[in-house]
Amino acid sequence: MIIEQITVGEMEVFCYVIACDETREAAAIDPAGDRDDIEKIIAVLEEKDLQLSYIINTHGHADHTFGNQLLASRTGAKTVMHELDDDLFTTEEAKAWAAAFGLSAAPPVDIRITDGYRLPLGNLTLEFIHTPGHTPGAVCVLVENNLITGDTLFVGAVGRTDLPGGSMETLLKSIEEKLLPLPGETVIWPGHDYGDQPTSTLSREMETNPYITDFILDK
Ligand SMILES: [Zn+2]
Ligand SMILES: [Zn+2]
Repeated sequence: MIIEQITVGEMEVFCYVIACDETREAAAIDPAGDRDDIEKIIAVLEEKDLQLSYIINTHGHADHTFGNQLLASRTGAKTVMHELDDDLFTTEEAKAWAAAFGLSAAPPVDIRITDGYRLPLGNLTLEFIHTPGHTPGAVCVLVENNLITGDTLFVGAVGRTDLPGGSMETLLKSIEEKLLPLPGETVIWPGHDYGDQPTSTLSREMETNPYITDFILDK
């Protein structure tokens, strides 16, 4: 499989291009940023000869969904998000919130998913793990031994929970029940470049991430 980590936007968001190296079918996860950032993603697709089928959002925050529309119109790809965030972030309130950051909220997605949804991508299967807490409809995406964690789990930290729909208790429960049971060698690909390195492994986070060591393993 192919996995490319691309830094986009002003909030150090990591976008990912995931693809099947046999069929060249691809998905872009969290295409944030402006027109130039979307061009960066398209350049990766062209350079690697990939066909974009899906645009996946780990959650509905505008800094992760801002490029949805432009990338979809350029590629014909279908947008994918958990149904709870699709509901939450297409309200008038959400649009006003996005506007406060100078962003426009994404329109409703094409494919609304729930926990355990499996999306074929060439010879790969992407599995969606519902991990509420940062937002009600936040998901992590598991493909082979790679876990795209969005704003649920960062290298050395977790997502903030002070925004609408957030809950630290729910977030820690999601990490404990849905992520920690995965194999330790699972590679963590976070939604922002906030750590001491851009990626990690689950076992490293279980040893060094204070939210896991102090608030989950040591409670
Ligand atoms: Zn977020
Ligand atoms: Zn974010």
